[in-house]
Amino acid sequence: MQLVDDFKHKGLRRALVQTVQAKGITDARVLEALGAVPRHFFLDSAFLQHAYQDKAFGIGEGQTISQPFTVAFQTELLQVQPGDRVLEVGTGSGYQAAVLAQLGAKVYTIEYHRKLFEQARKLLRAMRLTQITTVLGDGSLGLVGFAPYQGILVTAAAPAVPPSLLQQLAPGGRLVVPVGDKNGQQMLRLTKQPDGSLAEERFAQFAFVPLLGKAGWQA
Ligand code: SAM
Repeated sequence: MQLVDDFKHKGLRRALVQTVQAKGITDARVLEALGAVPRHFFLDSAFLQHAYQDKAFGIGEGQTISQPFTVAFQTELLQVQPGDRVLEVGTGSGYQAAVLAQLGAKVYTIEYHRKLFEQARKLLRAMRLTQITTVLGDGSLGLVGFAPYQGILVTAAAPAVPPSLLQQLAPGGRLVVPVGDKNGQQMLRLTKQPDGSLAEERFAQFAFVPLLGKAGWQA
């Protein structure tokens, strides 16, 4: 695997960061992380011209690498601090996991499709991102073995907030999840209070691919 990140890629990335910023992302650390992670590594090299557009793109198995603005929006809501344990549900290409690692998180990312899991694992290893643990499985049930998490990020559309994810959240932890039907979802942030209760905030509408599995769209 040849991983080249040259001045041309860096220039395209700077322009992408400006685009995302112009759309309302203000967290300087998130913008910096987007500027640091080579998104073109996560797409087939034939699609280089798509890597730095603010668009989702197909990665096989009917799945997508999320739009950079969406990655930035969810990451901003998660409020990652260095050293946080973060669970990502829906590894896909591995790009979002790399952005979370760039922010200093210890990342656990779980993917439902074997082919995508294997591709992402290979790439993240080649990038030497040892702070990311990749797992194959049904993330709608969370990943109990490494819980609790300071942050949980779901990158697929859930029909309702998956109860296991709330259970696996540490006190003060944040769950960011798009909830709704297949035509559109509202971004939610649920923060676990010290007494175990949850504070819910609602944000903009998005369009994600469906969350599969037991607490997803498919029993
Ligand atoms: N975060 C990804 C990235 O950076 O490329 C994009 C995620 S894509 C929009 C959604 C992903 O969620 C797909 O790869 C899909 O296979 C995965 N997925 C769907 N249901 C899942 C589940 N129950 N557990 C784990 N992954 C799931």
